[in-house]
Amino acid sequence: MESHRAFRSHNDHSERGYSAMHAPVLVLNASYEPINICAARRAIVLVLKGVAATEEINGHFLHSSRVAIRVPSVIRLLEYRRIPHQTRALSRKNILLRDRNTCQYCGVVLPASELTLDHVVPRSRGGLSTWENLVACCHECNRRKGNAMAHECGMRRAHSHCTPVVT
Ligand SMILES: [Zn+2]
Repeated sequence: MESHRAFRSHNDHSERGYSAMHAPVLVLNASYEPINICAARRAIVLVLKGVAATEEINGHFLHSSRVAIRVPSVIRLLEYRRIPHQTRALSRKNILLRDRNTCQYCGVVLPASELTLDHVVPRSRGGLSTWENLVACCHECNRRKGNAMAHECGMRRAHSHCTPVVT
């Protein structure tokens, strides 16, 4: 227990060490489904315990007295974890989490407050509010697209961000 204490570094008290330890890390299930966001410190503990593997790193290092640890930005649980149904509920928050706050049309990354949800197939054309038909979208793209299909206004849907690049 409390094994993470060993990795508290001298830098931990500095601004930089503090923010590195608390940087948000996306947690994926073994199936690559996004399930949570945790702090870097917690993510590193999960990786060191062999519970999760690093999928992407954020470029920062944490230094303990002997080793430098790459700070993950995405980790994946090695064993599939059953998630209670309600936490996978279709919600604005979960769609933005899945799309990693990235507009699925122009690729811009924005805070949640500056993103909206777009119906890929507009509701006016029978599009449903489902995981498959809802994507994160910036206000500008949302205005441009209106009630049209993306291809009708010269827009192209960006690649899915569901599957992280393994580095
Ligand atoms: Zn956009």
